[in-house]
Amino acid sequence: MAQPKLSVSAALLLVMAGLISARTLDAAPVKSAALVLPERPDAFTLRASQILQRQITRRCAATFTNSGVVDLKIELALQPDIDQESYRLSDRPGGTILIEGGDMRGLIYGIGKFLRTSRYDQGGFTPGTWRGASRPAAPVRGIYFATHFNNYYEAAPIEEVREYVEDLALWGLNQLQVTFPRWHYSGFSDPDAQRALDRLRLILRAARQAGMQVTLLIAANDDFKSAPVEFRRVPVPDPLKRRGDFGVNLCPSKPKARALLLSDWRRLLDEFKDPGLDAVEFWPYDEGGCGCENCWPWGARGFPNLCRELSGIAREKFPAIKTIISTWTFDTPPAGEWEGLRRFLDSDRTWVDYVLADAHEDFPRYPLEQGVPGGRPLLNFPEISMWGQSPWGGYGANPFPARLQRLWNQTQRKLSGGFPYSEGIYEDLNKVICSQLYWDGGRPTLETVREYVAFEFSPQVTESVARAITLLEVNHDRKRLDPVALEAFRLLAEAEQKLTPQARASWRWRILYLRGLIDRELVGTKGRLEGATLRKAFEELTAIYHAEGAHSMPIHPPVVP
Ligand SMILES: [Zn+2]
Repeated sequence: MAQPKLSVSAALLLVMAGLISARTLDAAPVKSAALVLPERPDAFTLRASQILQRQITRRCAATFTNSGVVDLKIELALQPDIDQESYRLSDRPGGTILIEGGDMRGLIYGIGKFLRTSRYDQGGFTPGTWRGASRPAAPVRGIYFATHFNNYYEAAPIEEVREYVEDLALWGLNQLQVTFPRWHYSGFSDPDAQRALDRLRLILRAARQAGMQVTLLIAANDDFKSAPVEFRRVPVPDPLKRRGDFGVNLCPSKPKARALLLSDWRRLLDEFKDPGLDAVEFWPYDEGGCGCENCWPWGARGFPNLCRELSGIAREKFPAIKTIISTWTFDTPPAGEWEGLRRFLDSDRTWVDYVLADAHEDFPRYPLEQGVPGGRPLLNFPEISMWGQSPWGGYGANPFPARLQRLWNQTQRKLSGGFPYSEGIYEDLNKVICSQLYWDGGRPTLETVREYVAFEFSPQVTESVARAITLLEVNHDRKRLDPVALEAFRLLAEAEQKLTPQARASWRWRILYLRGLIDRELVGTKGRLEGATLRKAFEELTAIYHAEGAHSMPIHPPVVP
């Protein structure tokens, strides 16, 4: 079958961007391939080989076989000479492509690079010709799955979530973080709590199988709704309405409340004995906080004081565990929290391994200008899910490469990584952008957009779809839809004609295409939610997100028939 050809200028752009080589564009696709593994492959290498096969066979008609003549051989190997989490792609004499990782994770990331620089057509698979070595800049390349409100992570079939975790690992993410909001439940014996814990363990095991470390985030003084009323916190001062006031938060300066917090924490850690925990993160606000005279300023006094004790218990249970202390919305408005945390950690910093900082909008100035309290590595928490759009994900994909670039630039390359905040899959591209900023902070976000488009959709539509994505970002704010929505949709509709049936049917394409369609419709209706096209688009999004039972997060606005 004849392969669709790229225009010369489009091909040149891709080659110049280093996303795909001239040879990949010209080479004939292969129809069959074989994997070469070590003689006695370990479980992880086997898993990595399955991930590689799944990615290729899902995208095109190429098949893998271990017998007979094949068009292509791909060898996977661990190579101790290569740095940890790093990889190298090279050619063996005879044409076998060799993907080597310095360790299990490096192997997965090398497979990811190989897959993304290859192409997938009706005729089969054209292996990428990118060769070389790469290593990540930031050690903590995490993602936080906000596991609550019956969102995607709670509601999707577990096999789908498992595959999604593997997809993210291919982009170099190495830590998955989840939460267990105790205030949703009456206690550990609450059947809903048991179900939630079962689910979290399944997700974390999937992360481990994909080579990731696993982290539990909790609001430090959050507890079950059965906690006695007299144990509860004094509301925190929140004149700017940025600190949030959810949950069942106890005052750790009340001895009986503190004892309950500590015993529930011990029990919660035991719930994670299998699959174990590599890190815990303590959260100050939104859920969390106490404004009593003994705890306030929370970030300077009650919070670090409680976290130190929680961290000690975590180390009893898991001796190698790391502790991350979050400073989210500290000093909003100023209350001496950053300075107080600095004083606290100056006297004892042994219990903290990382300090995490972020805010609703701009990155906090304090750790950039005054240094990080305790001198610990700094992490961020980019908000990729909820910002600027409600309902979250309700209009389809929400890519904002320009915003993420702007916020990243503010951090002045002082980060050791971070955990983007994720509510679902509609911000898949934002996750990927963050993953690449952690991998190589000098890489422009738009270049990552191009790599994503070439891989997930087709190298043939890279420039036009990347352009459409920048136009969608213009309309991120739903209050005033700009007519560029028409151009964005035109580009997407045109690109769709060039996609394989597999790419066209993929959920990543559908959520992007539907975003374009919804924006175009809303320009036409002057923002009114009416008509069959919108209704159908919203229904499809709901099905993709498994959001039929979502609550507290209505997945789409009501549409007038
Ligand atoms: Zn208190």
